[in-house]
Amino acid sequence: MPAKKKTGVSAKKDRSKGKFLVIVESPAKSKTINKILGADYKVIACMGHLVDLPAGKMGIDFENDFKPEYAVMKNRKKYLTDLKKEAKSAKAVFLAADPDREGEAICWHIENQLKKLSPEIYRVKFEEITDKVIKEAFSHKGALDMNKVNAQQARRILDRIVGYSLSPFLWGKITRGLSAGRVQSVAVRLIVEREDAIRAFKPQEYWSLDAILRKRGVDEKDDAPSTFKAKLVKHKGEKVHMEARLTVDDILAVLKNEKFIIKDIARKQKKSYPRSPYTTSLMQQDAFNRINFSASKTMRIAQRLYEGVELGDEGSVGLITYMRTDSVRISDDALRAVREYIAGQYGGQYCPEKPVAHRSKGRAQDAHEAIRPGLPLRDPGSVASFLNSDELKLYTLIWNRFVASQMTNAVYSVLTVNIDAGEYMMRAGGAELIFRGFLLAFNSAKQDEEMERIPSLDPGEEVDLQELLPEQHFTKAPPRYSDASLVKDLEEKGIGRPSTYAPIIRTVIDRNYVKRIARYFQPSELGELVTKLLVKNFPDTINYEFTANMENELDGIEEGNVNWVKVLKDFYEPFSRRLEKARERMKNVNKEEVKTDEVCAECGRPMIIKWGRRGRFLSCSGFPACRNSKSITTGVKCPEEGCSGELVERRSRRGTFYGCTNYPNCRYVAKTPPKDPLTSVDNGDNVEDE
Ligand SMILES: [Zn+2]
Ligand SMILES: [Zn+2]
Repeated sequence: MPAKKKTGVSAKKDRSKGKFLVIVESPAKSKTINKILGADYKVIACMGHLVDLPAGKMGIDFENDFKPEYAVMKNRKKYLTDLKKEAKSAKAVFLAADPDREGEAICWHIENQLKKLSPEIYRVKFEEITDKVIKEAFSHKGALDMNKVNAQQARRILDRIVGYSLSPFLWGKITRGLSAGRVQSVAVRLIVEREDAIRAFKPQEYWSLDAILRKRGVDEKDDAPSTFKAKLVKHKGEKVHMEARLTVDDILAVLKNEKFIIKDIARKQKKSYPRSPYTTSLMQQDAFNRINFSASKTMRIAQRLYEGVELGDEGSVGLITYMRTDSVRISDDALRAVREYIAGQYGGQYCPEKPVAHRSKGRAQDAHEAIRPGLPLRDPGSVASFLNSDELKLYTLIWNRFVASQMTNAVYSVLTVNIDAGEYMMRAGGAELIFRGFLLAFNSAKQDEEMERIPSLDPGEEVDLQELLPEQHFTKAPPRYSDASLVKDLEEKGIGRPSTYAPIIRTVIDRNYVKRIARYFQPSELGELVTKLLVKNFPDTINYEFTANMENELDGIEEGNVNWVKVLKDFYEPFSRRLEKARERMKNVNKEEVKTDEVCAECGRPMIIKWGRRGRFLSCSGFPACRNSKSITTGVKCPEEGCSGELVERRSRRGTFYGCTNYPNCRYVAKTPPKDPLTSVDNGDNVEDE
């Protein structure tokens, strides 16, 4: 039969025989969902966005309310053709991308492509890919949330305007191929300013003074301690500051001749409260600090756990709730399940009478849940044989934190002993864990600190001075950012959202603006140069408050309180004026050539320093006639014996490292810069990023 005749009636007939079509982002997710929904459904993966702004041009009609010119992405045409084919014969189409802004926009673009082909298209949302939740979601199918879609469109258009306007500015000033971004450049600014603060930092000297004191009449052979340590805290009721050795010597001279008399003894109970289950930011911080995962690695593995992992005969099962969230709320079902688990596993005294209430920071809207294990609860031991070691590490972390969040408080007994020594006062004491509570499920470093043993003492009792221990200290420079502290700061400053912390870090490293050295971020020379230029020329855009306000505006659009076109207008007018000024100024600037003493090995002309996308390099001044170029070394000789090479900076997926110019003949490698006192003392492991 000729294909042309197969229209109208026969197409309808096809539809009645067809299945329900479900569209999700990834193959793993489609497998898990298909298993739950059964054979009447066909779940296929669209692999993310199919439609976007065009790559080669701005693609925004500024005269016409910022109307975007959307286009099917080049490498996604095949997926769209497949979707269309399936949609033609499907009984109905369910759009089931992730429950956030990006997911909503993916669904909207697909709906626009399919609406002529299928009479019934629905949006389905869920935060957990487990039996009960999926079935419930499909019984509550609905329409797209256009507020969410518009928030995504505004975000996309803003990023496009900023990126496509600022990048050419950098090409004119520094070199082609550089990029700037609305959020990315602000994140680099944080890292650059921290580096400035570290350079400007001057260590201040200060001293501390401990005394070893001895209780009288205690036999050394007894089990009870006889000596204990006390710290100098006050002089005539005021806090003691010792900035130089001279002050310390004066105090030592006085204390040597004083009587040490117990003034008072206090024993108090202190509670330690369980923390909330994970938000995205908290999970990224803990995964970095406890299991050494970069933010991107954490998100990649969390996504696998969310989308579904093969559990033997059970098939593919979603093990955690959606991993992009800033909420600490948990569902009633999950609360009931975890309380039952705690009572059964640890006993009634570990399960508080009332559920523990946790409060989300910032935004009050709690549409999402915290990141927690899916239901029914599966403890890490029961799934260990099906997970790889990284998956198991992260799942265990999420599990422990969730269980602990609903357990009873830990209780410490805190002892404080004040001791008079003339005009001075010393203090001894410590804390002892007397009830572990939630720490049974989720330990902290603090709990294992052993309390110093102190002999039993009475007020008025005189003790003997055994030794005075003065110690010199210096204040420390602020630390460089790590994945954990950067994510924390971005969240606190309101820059970025759960979906963007990891991509921001990835982008600034990929663009060569930031180097990951061992566990810490350092700006590259290029990053410093670009940031300083951008901040100088676009102070209102590459700006913390501006970026935070913009995120709030986008939230407002999502909540239906703000008009998205107005947000773009309010942004664009001042921005385009600033851009015009910067362009004019730019015309007057010539790129400087920096001469060096180096001579080109190929033609003998002098070498000059040029900027490229990867930073500075040496180029032959005869370019383009001579194309010789080489990397700039650190100027430090290779420490390998008999090697005449110099150390040069190189990059791998795990971060920046230092190798020898004689590679591959010399294979010397160092993780930290040879001359940097701040990082060369750090022996921490490299962060796992792949
Ligand atoms: Zn040359
Ligand atoms: Zn070498």
